Amino acid sequence: MELQYSREGIYVAAIDLWLDPQNSQGAAWISHAHSDHARHYSRTVIGTGISLELYRMRWPAKEEWGQELRVLEYGEEMEWRGARLRCIPAGHILGAAQLLIEYGGERLVYTGDIKKKAPLCGRETEVVECDHLIVESTFGLPVYRFLTREQAREEIAGFARECLEEGATPVFLGYPLGRGQEIVGALTGAGIRTAVHGAIAKYIPVYERAGVEFGDWEPYEARDLKGKALVVVPGMRRQLEATGVDVRVAYVSGWARVANARLRAGAEKLIAYSDHAGYDELLELVEGTKARRVDVVHGYTEVFAGILRERGIEAEAPAGARGRASEEEAE
Ligand SMILES: [Zn+2]
Repeated sequence: MELQYSREGIYVAAIDLWLDPQNSQGAAWISHAHSDHARHYSRTVIGTGISLELYRMRWPAKEEWGQELRVLEYGEEMEWRGARLRCIPAGHILGAAQLLIEYGGERLVYTGDIKKKAPLCGRETEVVECDHLIVESTFGLPVYRFLTREQAREEIAGFARECLEEGATPVFLGYPLGRGQEIVGALTGAGIRTAVHGAIAKYIPVYERAGVEFGDWEPYEARDLKGKALVVVPGMRRQLEATGVDVRVAYVSGWARVANARLRAGAEKLIAYSDHAGYDELLELVEGTKARRVDVVHGYTEVFAGILRERGIEAEAPAGARGRASEEEAE
């Protein structure tokens, strides 16, 4: 299958389908609802039911626009312009999916953002054999090795308890969709009193409807912060310090593996957990697919493609594909 790579996204010309386009197109697959993957008003949008629900919350549309949302759930198949599409869990965040396209006797898999180890929330990834793989490499360098979800839960709850025992207020910085809810789940699951910022809290009902269980939590209230762990978006940090509360910040991120992360996040505690695959996971994933050709499209594309070639895999970083993401983009 011929693929066209550009800053607009990936276009599968034979079946007139875009994969995570950056602008509005005719028909688009959205791998998940993070804004760097679902930021458009394409005419037809295909994704899991959860991804489409989250997408609609983030990008409301008017009915008269006639946009069509087509649900493709994990394990389901759909005929599409002479191809067969199949939806496969991708770990990462709730609703995230890989897409298998079977067309003309060829099997193409697009991972979107993917995590191979079990995530704190959501379905575990399945590795699917294919001929041609399009994979992300946000953390495609050997330095990026991450905690398991059990280790991450322990670290998150442990830091919160330690701060609370010392009369301080533990603060966890999380992105509005994905990491934020995972941290809330880890804290409330450990029985820790937790206040959640509205930007994160608004997605919790979607998680609950999908069967993710949270313990008790309460809305973030600036006048009443003591005795609780706080889960807030990164932009809240300064505001919190101005409240006069003894705030101690933890940063839960894949970027916590690099030396300047503490400085950038202003955090005393770094917890190296990510909803993306770390380096070892990416290698396992790519080798597990037995793909004869691998395109690396996001993150450390050139370096990771080189590492794959050294391991005997035909891999490249297609010219025109989006390169290394900034921390904010790599949700
Ligand atoms: Zn993402």
